[in-house]
Amino acid sequence: MATSLLETFLTRARQSPERPILDFEQQRFTAGQLAGHVAAFASALQRRGLKPGERVALFLENSPAFVISYLGTQYAGGVVVLVNTQYRQVELGHILSDAGARACVTGAAGAAELAPLKAQLPALEWLVTEESPGGPLSAPVPWPAVDFDALLAEGNPTAALPLPGGEQLAVLGYTSGTTGRSKGAMLLHRNLLANVRAVTEAWRWTEKDRLLLTLPLFHTHGLMVGLHGTLYSGGSVDLRRRFAAPEVLSALQEDSSLTMFFGVPTMYGRLVEEARRTGPSPRPRSLRLLVSGSAPLSPQLFHDVEETFGQRILERYGMTETIMNTTNPYEGERRPGTVGMPYPGQEARVVDVRTRQPLPDGETGEIEVRGPHVFAGYWQRPDATAESFDPEGWFRTGDLGLRDRDGYFHITGRARELIISGGFNVYPREVEEVLATHPGVAEVAVLGLPDSDFGEQVVAVVVPRSPAPEAQALTDFCKDSLASFKKPRRVVFVEALPRNALGKVQKHLLRERLQTQAPPANVQK
Ligand code: ATP
Ligand code: MG
Repeated sequence: MATSLLETFLTRARQSPERPILDFEQQRFTAGQLAGHVAAFASALQRRGLKPGERVALFLENSPAFVISYLGTQYAGGVVVLVNTQYRQVELGHILSDAGARACVTGAAGAAELAPLKAQLPALEWLVTEESPGGPLSAPVPWPAVDFDALLAEGNPTAALPLPGGEQLAVLGYTSGTTGRSKGAMLLHRNLLANVRAVTEAWRWTEKDRLLLTLPLFHTHGLMVGLHGTLYSGGSVDLRRRFAAPEVLSALQEDSSLTMFFGVPTMYGRLVEEARRTGPSPRPRSLRLLVSGSAPLSPQLFHDVEETFGQRILERYGMTETIMNTTNPYEGERRPGTVGMPYPGQEARVVDVRTRQPLPDGETGEIEVRGPHVFAGYWQRPDATAESFDPEGWFRTGDLGLRDRDGYFHITGRARELIISGGFNVYPREVEEVLATHPGVAEVAVLGLPDSDFGEQVVAVVVPRSPAPEAQALTDFCKDSLASFKKPRRVVFVEALPRNALGKVQKHLLRERLQTQAPPANVQK
């Protein structure tokens, strides 16, 4: 039995080396070619002195170089540190120094971003660029820059390297920083394997599948669901540098080799809009599975996707620390507004936030999960690790939700974002869902701000549609559907909500802004 996903991939590649596995722009890699590059990269890392357990950061856009250095680092016994490509100096400095990265793999643009950090990161010894052989770097790089292709050629392994064991650290996945500063989640090889087994089993993923992948590989959803599933199942992936609605829509409609597409709700929203703009077109035939996750999918969007693609989207729930927690059933009923049930071999429950006792179905509390998919703790944060686990090994997800009578989990928000106003609990998502149905509201985020009378007050931050509604009209609108204590006390109009790469609203940034700003004229008290 394999002890790592890497082992499964290498074994499959040895068995059928000619099988196409990865397409990217004009390049196609067979499993054998990809495995060859992975081994070459691993052996080059070893020759350069990488020791087992040392960290190699990837600061790369989606590309074959990402896939090769991801697997190659693991093959060399190293630990991959995933870095969001939108990060700039401050965030980069935080992650690279927190992880104690020995090396960083990046392109020319990334190198320029890293250059000013040299003094802050003495442990970062060298850097590799994925740019074309011999091509000049766009900025001076203080580390010896090694060309990626040259590195692969230099590596050329003669003997097989030892494979990492299941208990070895494979990846430091940094959380998205939606609720604060991102933390490094320690994922072991056995965690990756347990997850990918559960996902491929739940979604009937086989070697016949071909995935269109436009999600960033630096994040769990793209990497540990999309790429891992492909490597484990023996299927193939059409990898794109990034998401663009017109290209994705035409690929889904015209490319009959594609069987699956995974996205975040923002992507599905754009696809639906694009399909409306381009008018009626044939329904994609081969496509058997559309998956949504990373952020809540509104029931409205669920139905819009069904109308556009003729199938019910499968919503699932996961996180950096555990990869995947729950999924709607592949064969059973896919229920809008829910994230389904635990994957095979995993457990999930809902507990009271104060007493930590399990709650009956239908009651809202914090979701906890347990099983072989759960990470080994936060990197160098024993305090955060201890706070996140109960003595019986349940991991506190920080997400609020409930399980309904049929066993489907519903996510109602984040524990840290729960608003307690005048002693009453207000779940921002509930208020957001009501406001989102108002015709004058394009987007909305609800949060709690300190209030001298009530402890916290409910504030709605709204991106209006024209004609823009009056703030009063929005609070009146809430009166019909919500208890008075849930009604926003303030409505603030903005042009756009701050979102991270996965389309999640960064409420901590909104909160900072609102707290430092004097209320503008369009604020209603
Ligand atoms: P941080 O932990 O740094 O605040 P983050 O929690 O956003 O950031 P990730 O690990 O990328 O970082 O995201 C996991 C979170 O995304 C989950 O805990 C949950 O809140 C949210 N999420 C994932 N899937 C869904 C879904 N289908 N519906 C609602 N929320 C989801
Ligand atoms: Mg989190």
